[in-house]
Amino acid sequence: SLATRDLHLSLGGNPVLRGVDLDVPRGDTLCVIGPSGSGKSTLLRTVNRLLEPDRGDVLLDGGSVLQRDPNLLRQQVGMVFQQFNLFPHLSVLRNLTLPLRRLRGLSREEADETALRQLDLVGLRHKAQTRPGRLSGGQQQRVAIARALVMAPQVMLFDEATSALDPELVKGVLGLMAELGRAGMTMVVVTHEMGFAREVADRVAFMDHGVVVESGSPQALFDDPRSPRLRQFLTDVL
Ligand code: ATP
Ligand code: MG
Repeated sequence: SLATRDLHLSLGGNPVLRGVDLDVPRGDTLCVIGPSGSGKSTLLRTVNRLLEPDRGDVLLDGGSVLQRDPNLLRQQVGMVFQQFNLFPHLSVLRNLTLPLRRLRGLSREEADETALRQLDLVGLRHKAQTRPGRLSGGQQQRVAIARALVMAPQVMLFDEATSALDPELVKGVLGLMAELGRAGMTMVVVTHEMGFAREVADRVAFMDHGVVVESGSPQALFDDPRSPRLRQFLTDVL
């Protein structure tokens, strides 16, 4: 399970997170929605310790992550970004084997075997020797997901993973994410895809101005929004 407790963070004197509490039970998918600038990316980056909170805590299976080695934490908490952040000069296979060898100390043979198995699962084994730049955006994003998954994380964080994709490629990536959720991965998904949130999320959290304004089941949030801010947001995006 993943939880945040009273997370506060200011950036450049700007209070960006103003007391965020989240609870994601093991195996659940939480979708985080909210307007631009509400702090969604900052929240994920704080969970992954790309940013350090000023106050509050992040708990993984009940234990604080703030004392842990960030490199170890990032193996336990995989993250996928809007821009895929793959190594352009390495083949797809080497993009996956690099962290396995560097962080896990696997031999080349072990790393290749593990990576190829993971590429199989995302349907890209046949692209193992290709460089990312020669793949479609959707394929690159599936490689980025595979690279996170190959470390066998306990939790996956997605920050608008489909926002940079051409419309026809979005469905494949969302399908892969939905499949992961069904397979029991614990996930926090920041997304503008309200259809995905409604169909795949166990719970949805609406953020505005650095706080979770409202959270609940997709039905509760989308069909019976309580706060005026969420009502306005849904009117604007749907
Ligand atoms: P979007 O939907 O556009 O991705 P978001 O909800 O992910 O938005 P964040 O990227 O978390 O929003 O940013 C939240 C706020 O923090 C914004 O007002 C942004 O301007 C501010 N912010 C982000 N990074 C910094 C920084 N390094 N210094 C100062 N302010 C920052
Ligand atoms: Mg963002």
